[in-house]
Amino acid sequence: MGHLARTPIRDFEVARRRMVAEQLVARGITDGRILEVMSAIPRHLFVEEAFVDFAYGDFPVGIGEGQTISQPFIVALMTQALLLTGRERVLEIGTGCGYQTAILASLVAQVYTVERVKLLALKARRILKEGGYRNIVLRVGDGTDGWPTMAPFDAILVAAGSPTMPQPLLHQLAEGGRLVIPIGSSEEQELVRVTKRGGRMLEEKLGACRFVPLVGKFGWHPKNPLQKNR
Ligand code: SAH
Repeated sequence: MGHLARTPIRDFEVARRRMVAEQLVARGITDGRILEVMSAIPRHLFVEEAFVDFAYGDFPVGIGEGQTISQPFIVALMTQALLLTGRERVLEIGTGCGYQTAILASLVAQVYTVERVKLLALKARRILKEGGYRNIVLRVGDGTDGWPTMAPFDAILVAAGSPTMPQPLLHQLAEGGRLVIPIGSSEEQELVRVTKRGGRMLEEKLGACRFVPLVGKFGWHPKNPLQKNR
């Protein structure tokens, strides 16, 4: 019998409520819609089965293929930084297990998401379909190129650390649009928000963070993740 079958669902609800109070509200996440959505979405269904008990902890958790689901606070912080009102078309790079995708899809009109690891993409697609989300389009591939045929986007969220700003993503941002991306070394990055205003880019630093590498044409080199591509 799987762990999910043995654990009363109520325990996950309690864990989720505590996560929202102790990790999000206590650290300054104020957007009520984000708090509501994160109180509702079953994060434990997105992590690897062996890590179900750790799904609501204050740390990243393994999702397979050497990748991780971000710490709940970082997910909330990035989402809040996008200043979403509900009508947006959003591009997400790094679907991973699909947890952040589910949050975005609950908050906006349409989500386009790109994942380079096929196995993760297939798993995410299945879970999101089971969750009944109808406003998500998922593509397997290198997201550092963005998604030119679907651009422009009102918001872009990059869930992997890049050595430099991938230029195609800036081009695919709508006027007034927001892009949130971790930029820095493979060890540590700065969370950066770029806002496009009158054709100009306003850049703000939101704090230190640590993500798995963004691997691709405008990110880290695929063969050697420590070597910059551009
Ligand atoms: N938001 C995700 C975080 C996953 S970690 C979640 O909730 O699970 C970041 C993901 O970015 C990994 O799955 C990794 O495979 C993916 N990734 C790395 N480089 C990428 C690229 N160039 N294009 C698309 N996905 C990429």
